[in-house]
Amino acid sequence: MNEFRIQTDSRTHQRYMAVSAKGVHLKEHPILNKGSAFTDDERENLGLLGVLPPKVSTMEEQLARVREHYQQKGTNLERFVYLAALQDRNETLFYRFLSENMDELLPIVYTPVVGEACQKYSHIYRRARGIWITPEHADKIDVILGNVAQEDVRVIVVTDNERILGLGDLGAGGMGIPVGKLTIYTGAAGIHPSQCLPVSLDVGTDNPALLADPLYLGYRKPRLRGAAYDELIEKFVRAVEKRWPGVLLQWEDFANTNAFRLLEKYKDQLCTFNDDIQGTGAVALSGMIAAIRSKKERMSDQKLVFFGAGEAASGIAEQCVVLMKSEGTSDDDARRKIWFVDSKGLVISGVRPLPEHKKPYARDAGEVASWKVVNPTAISLLETVQHVHPTVLIGTSGTPGTFTEPIIHSMARHCAQPVILPLSNPTSKTECAPAHALEWSDGRALVATGSPFPAVDLNGRKVRIGQANNAFIFPGVGLACVATRAKRVTQGMFRAAAAALAETVTEKDIAEGSLYPPASRIREVARKVALEVAKEVFHEGLGGVAKPRELNRLIDSVIWYPEYLPYRYEPSH
Ligand code: NAD
Repeated sequence: MNEFRIQTDSRTHQRYMAVSAKGVHLKEHPILNKGSAFTDDERENLGLLGVLPPKVSTMEEQLARVREHYQQKGTNLERFVYLAALQDRNETLFYRFLSENMDELLPIVYTPVVGEACQKYSHIYRRARGIWITPEHADKIDVILGNVAQEDVRVIVVTDNERILGLGDLGAGGMGIPVGKLTIYTGAAGIHPSQCLPVSLDVGTDNPALLADPLYLGYRKPRLRGAAYDELIEKFVRAVEKRWPGVLLQWEDFANTNAFRLLEKYKDQLCTFNDDIQGTGAVALSGMIAAIRSKKERMSDQKLVFFGAGEAASGIAEQCVVLMKSEGTSDDDARRKIWFVDSKGLVISGVRPLPEHKKPYARDAGEVASWKVVNPTAISLLETVQHVHPTVLIGTSGTPGTFTEPIIHSMARHCAQPVILPLSNPTSKTECAPAHALEWSDGRALVATGSPFPAVDLNGRKVRIGQANNAFIFPGVGLACVATRAKRVTQGMFRAAAAALAETVTEKDIAEGSLYPPASRIREVARKVALEVAKEVFHEGLGGVAKPRELNRLIDSVIWYPEYLPYRYEPSH
């Protein structure tokens, strides 16, 4: 039974919150709590008389108090912990504070600070948020989902914690990521917090430091693998489908050995996607669309070198191929414009065994036979750049400092405006600081990063560094799925999302040096992305509701804005 429902008074047309509970429960429930902002009437009628300080605060006063507390925190991790506590206490206030300060707070609630929070999870832990499923629960998943009080879950973000950002296996600490992503679903797209559920499939960890930590909160066993792992996933998926049919299931931070397989297996069965592959593909593509639009070029004119050939690289490359094909380039020719370099060097056919996701981009050995290189079976990134003369360089390797001066110099020698995207997260993993990319290219590079960076002062010109943040894509995609009750999530929907995001990048953004809008515009971006993705949902015949005449209205009907509504006690619902 829902404890609350947003209603509209049929006589006055005023919105209000019908609540079926009274008393201190209201101020202990993070979604219902208004803290000192409960009005005198509400205190009188809802059993809250005398259990709050006498002065009734406005939300503005509460925000001023929150700001004061927030500013007293000495480190980013303390700010993270403070915000998590606020979220656990009063979600409406938390989301208003977040929405009004996105630029400042996004890096705290998500990357890069969430990375540190995940690493220290068992030490900073205060209160549970989400659910945990271990191998020992394999036959009790229905019970666990039944224990979730939220009746109307519409979005689930699930991780098995094995590849958290660029930080690897963080065991139970990975829960910070689904929590953070869902915070952005609500903060950016307005999906109501009661409709969001973070899930950790805690299948153990192979991280020895965690296994040895006496405070470790996770399942203290080596990782479950093989058939038993697949079986657990299958049971989880079926139980989710049963409890919340049609829910959007987002796979998050799985190691690439599982991520590609799971996406392939479930993408045609459920409303599901993998943000590390598809969301990243769309956000990076959008940056490239903005760059090539400003250069008045086409995608098919580009030569792209990827450093790091995992989920992110595959997702981005796939989206680039789709765009090139839409420009009239053949599939084969499009793939020939892309070079993958991984930890063992340039990806070439026949030199070493390759996983499936690298094969479409493997180069023919004959093609590189004439290159002058130190070791023809391990051609370096520098050697690749020197021979290919790329116009776009993308870093998804998780290895810092690898876009060196000679590499950027070489690129800039052959390209007037090289596009350089060091995307690895968190900040400590970036392939290259934006200031270096600009300095080493005589200020000509168009740069965007995975983690946030401050503006660069380039001989008196301030260059704003755009962030290729998936938060510009997945909230809008999710909002469209929720609003249209989409049956599947397709590549076409991500292509629509990338194009919509690129459209929000203004001439002014580009003139300031940025390929992305600032985070402060994230709500406007999410709505625009949702609208275009929803059009695509109906275009592909995947809507679970009839296509309305005004799509805007359908999208807006789902968006929740964090404000206090008047409460009325209605025990019957
Ligand atoms: P992944 O594990 O699937 O792939 C990593 C790849 O890097 C693998 O192919 C691996 O072989 C390669 N690699 C590892 N060490 C290397 C080295 N020394 N030299 C060259 N290649 C090396 O991970 P992923 O999902 O592709 O993510 C990779 C990085 O991209 C992470 O840091 C992640 O945070 C970042 N990322 C950023 C965004 C974004 O900015 N929006 C989105 C997704 C991922």
